[in-house]
Amino acid sequence: MSESAAAAAAAAAVLLDRVQAPDGTGREIPDAATREVIGRAPAHTVADLDQAIERARAAQHAWETLGHEERSALLLKAADAIDANAEALAHLLSREQGKPLNGPNARFELGACSAWLRTNATTVLESQVLVDDESLHAELVYRAAGVVGAIGPWNWPLMITIWQIGPALRMGNTVVAKPSEYTPLSVLALIAVMNDVLPADVLIPISGGRDVGARLASHPDIDKIMFTGSTATGRRIIESSAGNLARLTLELGGNDAGIVLPGTEVSDIAQDLFWGAFINTGQTCAAMKRLYVHDSVYDEVVDALAEIAESTPMGNGLDENNVLGPLQNRPQFDIVSGLVEEARASGARVVTGGAAATDLGELFYRPTIVADIDNDAGLVQQEQFGPALPIIRYSDVDQAFAWANGVDVGLGSSVWSSDPEDARQAAARMQAGTVWINSHGGLHPMVPFGGIKSSGYGLEFGVEGLKSVAVTQVISGPGRKGR
Ligand code: NAD
Repeated sequence: MSESAAAAAAAAAVLLDRVQAPDGTGREIPDAATREVIGRAPAHTVADLDQAIERARAAQHAWETLGHEERSALLLKAADAIDANAEALAHLLSREQGKPLNGPNARFELGACSAWLRTNATTVLESQVLVDDESLHAELVYRAAGVVGAIGPWNWPLMITIWQIGPALRMGNTVVAKPSEYTPLSVLALIAVMNDVLPADVLIPISGGRDVGARLASHPDIDKIMFTGSTATGRRIIESSAGNLARLTLELGGNDAGIVLPGTEVSDIAQDLFWGAFINTGQTCAAMKRLYVHDSVYDEVVDALAEIAESTPMGNGLDENNVLGPLQNRPQFDIVSGLVEEARASGARVVTGGAAATDLGELFYRPTIVADIDNDAGLVQQEQFGPALPIIRYSDVDQAFAWANGVDVGLGSSVWSSDPEDARQAAARMQAGTVWINSHGGLHPMVPFGGIKSSGYGLEFGVEGLKSVAVTQVISGPGRKGR
């Protein structure tokens, strides 16, 4: 181990000690790659959650009245604290989630955390003058919603936590954050680092199971839920909101399609196609999960992607050489391998991969390209959320759009073409919250992101993201004549 790697491991151990449950209590959390126990997550209960919400409520007024300037300054300090601890947090994240340090993975995720938080801190949400005439002055202002519940998934646990809590804190809300039961330790460590600079009880982590998540969503004293996770859980949260009328932002499952248009120069796009699908070893909400390729370039695309898949290093994330890692958990591994087996049995061609990489560890699955697959195969119609890309051949462009749009989710999508005008026209035909041209999955802290159809509702990022964690108030008074 190099000196810097040893220093990061030691700093990660210190962070872990700050957040993990005392010996003999809590729940063991495995290293995703080696399955060794990393540490113990506190097993907070529904009663702990109720207390946390009470504390967050008590802290909210002072946090809101602190004002935007001071809150922004504190959030900028929190971003600095994340940067100062980035290597330690990346180390812990890499072990717990499985994603390698290198590539668009753990260090990249930490970089996004501080970048998004800084943007949250410095973005201004102006009030709007609606009418200003002789008889009326009416203004729309944005106020804190109150106490926000942040419920996160296990795939980009730190970055998604920041997406939820950064705007919420910026707008003067206090937050109770519940990470996924699969990746609690790295999120608890991130929050501990932020809490070194934030006032007490403004941001409270709760490490519990699905019962705690359900209670957070249905709690009578929660004003807003920021949720990222599966569509099934999103539906439960909508049901809960009938009880407490909590506002919701729901970033749910996707099954993003990409379409390669006729005549596209394959060598220009192959790398970006690969990473559009295999970022975070395919465990990304807005990764490309189905690729439709025109007959004229089909074989070339399949061969190029198979070649990249075979030459991209997979393995333990702490090895600087690796850029692909394991599946994070056994249920997800079983979904991916089951869908590939089903595709193979139906006559699809597994060009590369299609097997567990048992030499690397229990939850590694080789990057897999499946060609000559029917559009109605499970691997195409369901979200695989792992390193297995189905590539569907088409000859009629209208058919490709019908297939791409023929699912009940619509998070992201992409069109690929060497002709900019063709690409723009094609983009307008895709049914998804975001359409990328000649790339897939790139996000920016000022560009709103959100799904349509069963991929959820509400926008995150930028000015729209600040609006999502606010409530509006209209202030209506006398117009110019009466002033
Ligand atoms: P999940 O829905 O199983 O769990 C997400 C979180 O919800 C966890 O913290 C869990 O404890 C909690 N939870 C479980 N039951 C709950 C309930 N009844 N009420 C409230 N909370 C409850 O999702 P996951 O398996 O962690 O994440 C994978 C899924 O998330 C995929 O479908 C993926 O597409 C989606 N995802 C979407 C985005 C996006 O931005 N749209 C981003 C990442 C992941």
